[in-house]
Amino acid sequence: MSQRFLIVGGGQAAVSAAAELRARDATAQIMLISDEDVLPYQRPPLSKAYLAGDMPLDRLLLRPRKWYDEAKIETRLGLRVDAIDPQKKTVSADGGSIPYDRLLLATGSRVRRLPEGLGDDLAGVFYLRTTAHIDAMEPHMVAGKKLVIIGGGYVGLEVAAVARKRGMDVTLVEAAERILQRVAASETSDYFRKLHSSHGVTLLEGQSFQRFEGDDGKLHSVMLADGTILEADVALVGIGVLPNDDLACEAGIACKNGILVDEFCSTSDPNIFAAGDCANFEHLGARIRLESVPNAIHQAEVAAANMAGEQLAYAATPWFWSDQYDVKLQIAGLASSYDTVIRRPGRREGAMSHWYFRGDELIAVDAMNDAPAFMTARKLIEGTVAVSKEVVADAEADLRGLLR
Ligand SMILES: Cc1cc2nc3c(=O)[nH]c(=O)nc-3n(C[C@H](O)[C@H](O)[C@H](O)COP(=O)(O)OP(=O)(O)OC[C@H]3O[C@@H](n4cnc5c(N)ncnc54)[C@H](O)[C@@H]3O)c2cc1C
Repeated sequence: MSQRFLIVGGGQAAVSAAAELRARDATAQIMLISDEDVLPYQRPPLSKAYLAGDMPLDRLLLRPRKWYDEAKIETRLGLRVDAIDPQKKTVSADGGSIPYDRLLLATGSRVRRLPEGLGDDLAGVFYLRTTAHIDAMEPHMVAGKKLVIIGGGYVGLEVAAVARKRGMDVTLVEAAERILQRVAASETSDYFRKLHSSHGVTLLEGQSFQRFEGDDGKLHSVMLADGTILEADVALVGIGVLPNDDLACEAGIACKNGILVDEFCSTSDPNIFAAGDCANFEHLGARIRLESVPNAIHQAEVAAANMAGEQLAYAATPWFWSDQYDVKLQIAGLASSYDTVIRRPGRREGAMSHWYFRGDELIAVDAMNDAPAFMTARKLIEGTVAVSKEVVADAEADLRGLLR
């Protein structure tokens, strides 16, 4: 009997797992169920090239229809799995029951919404996670219109960049003291504040959103906690995401800020695995979730290998990127509990990197238009060669030489 592999989810993790499962098992039955109506697609361009209108939907797709057909991966789109029965090894969807031998939960995450009653139901207020969100928002991205963005994380900043290119009047409101506070050092926040200000974005940091105001169901302004009123034709709420772990929790699978997995990407049920944004795993002694494409790809590949009978441990160095105007930010490692940040200019004009140390240990690097710094840093963080703060601070020192 061929194995029945079932994947719930239609994002990056789901597709990477499907490809890996097929590569490892030519005869297995592989089914991918997604509640979105479109074939799995890349999310990063949604706040970049796709929103800018520079990328058509077919280029957004992770794989064309032909690939699924040729690889014999059955796709069930527009179908939501609403329960798992781990004893019977079935999932239920739309009144039917689908059996599995091994199940992968690649359910990703969803946008964190504002509490009800603050006006996010007004026409002109958007969230951003799916192509459907962009398709609704894009026609409003018109030169001269006023856009207010709530949240100064990567998605908010990327949308600000696209909106300025389109000639919109952009104000970004961030409740924390500085943009990117949750994910980066003040040096990196300063860099991006300057970048956005130089492109004409008004950044209001340390200012809390109060509510949206509208007439006849249509947005006209944003009220801040200090009473400031910002006129707005369009608003984007980008205040983070929440893991889609309800399906697992309701089935009795251990969850805490995501679906808890061990190093083999296995959940508390040995036949059920999880990968991508929804998975909570141990990394350097702490439990984390990563919301990044590289994590979704590699964790899903490891999960799939283990579903097919391997015993591989997942241990990747986190990395991430963001594009804003003509700046490519590449991040290696995780910037948490650092005590020193060293700025290091790159060889090319405008290239800059920020190196995060905890004690004497290099733990993360933010590289702005500095791919060599990013690549070197990644290898240094992954490897066993130590680099001192003094060497990093010496702009003339050849860090790549350390890797030889
Ligand atoms: C606008 C935006 C920009 C981003 N930019 C970057 C970037 O520059 N670099 C980077 O590394 N990362 C970026 N990310 C994050 C990255 O896209 C995610 O980390 C990655 O897509 C996670 O993939 P995933 O497969 O785990 O989850 P998702 O992409 O969230 O996919 C999960 C899928 O499962 C479906 N699903 C959930 N529950 C069910 C159910 N019960 N039944 C059926 N289907 C279900 C969901 O609808 C969804 O289609 C960005 C994300 C967004 C939204």
